[in-house]
Amino acid sequence: MLSLKLGWYLLRQKLRGNERFPLTMILEPLESCNLTCTGCGRIREYEPILERRLSVEQCLSAVEECDAPVVSIAGGEPLMHDQIGEIVSAIVAQRRFVYLCTNALLYKKALKIIRPSPYFAFVVHLDGLRETHDIAVEREGVYDVAIRAIKEFRKAGYRVCTNTTLFSGNKPEEYHRLFAMLHDMGVEGMMVAPGFQYKEVAHHDIFMQRGEAHSFFRRVFDGCRAGLRFYNNPLYLDFLMGKREYECSQWSTPTYTPAGWRKPCYLIADEHTSSFQQLMETTDWKAYGFGRDPRCDTCMMHCGYEGSAVHEAMAKPAALAELAWRSVRPGVGRKNVSAR
Ligand code: SF4
Ligand code: SF4
Repeated sequence: MLSLKLGWYLLRQKLRGNERFPLTMILEPLESCNLTCTGCGRIREYEPILERRLSVEQCLSAVEECDAPVVSIAGGEPLMHDQIGEIVSAIVAQRRFVYLCTNALLYKKALKIIRPSPYFAFVVHLDGLRETHDIAVEREGVYDVAIRAIKEFRKAGYRVCTNTTLFSGNKPEEYHRLFAMLHDMGVEGMMVAPGFQYKEVAHHDIFMQRGEAHSFFRRVFDGCRAGLRFYNNPLYLDFLMGKREYECSQWSTPTYTPAGWRKPCYLIADEHTSSFQQLMETTDWKAYGFGRDPRCDTCMMHCGYEGSAVHEAMAKPAALAELAWRSVRPGVGRKNVSAR
């Protein structure tokens, strides 16, 4: 269903001649969280406005103005928002695909206020097996809650994905075990990305440089059990392994927060704009990206590069054919893994 909706959406953009358009909108209805993860830029950058909340109306108005087919709800911890159930159901009612990113500590609340839907999936944050994850989130026991939550969500009929940020110093074998276990638990797809070096985060040694990330992702993917499903598109996974080069297309993943639209991207905010139109019309997109802005040099995040893979596929029939083929054929084009 998602592929069909995306295909139709992309065709409409092409027919209209639109050069830049959103694929996934990131909606952050609040920035406060019930954890203090070591690598998290949000809770540090937005410290002065952690108490601020977007209203249901503000969320819907931003979603409608942006008009992306996919909305990823993040933060902060979205389940801490008092009206998160209303926000999710209103966006789902517009037949947009909603992915709610959560650390799962409030999963019991989520089970009560959000109804399962083909348009909705939880995305549970899981940075490794027990010890690694609990160190990353700086609290013991969080891994066990996340695993319990995934099981409860699956039992209650929800779609579940996971999101894993890979940091320097961890071993590929740990991810082989983690991803195999999640697959066996019924997780629909795992999303992966290297951590971004936020200036607000004190421990810069946890972030991988580009070359290190390429070889690390090759070792991770090459050692994964056959047939595992990753939620990122396969061309982006090639990019992570250094097999393709892309220019950043941060405009494909605009981010709305209680401070406004982040300009230029999910990761860096030189300023915030009050409308999506203003973001699209006033940002000098070419000023950012690898080799243009030093803050971008270590960035390989999906918010910048997953859209580039889709954009390439729209422009080049061979890339489109490869994307379509590898998305439906597990293991094709890469040793062991398949994508959504
Ligand atoms: S759970 Fe997410 S939002 Fe909360 S501190 Fe960790 S990374 Fe940041
Ligand atoms: S490379 Fe793109 S997505 Fe990454 S920080 Fe720079 S502008 Fe943002």
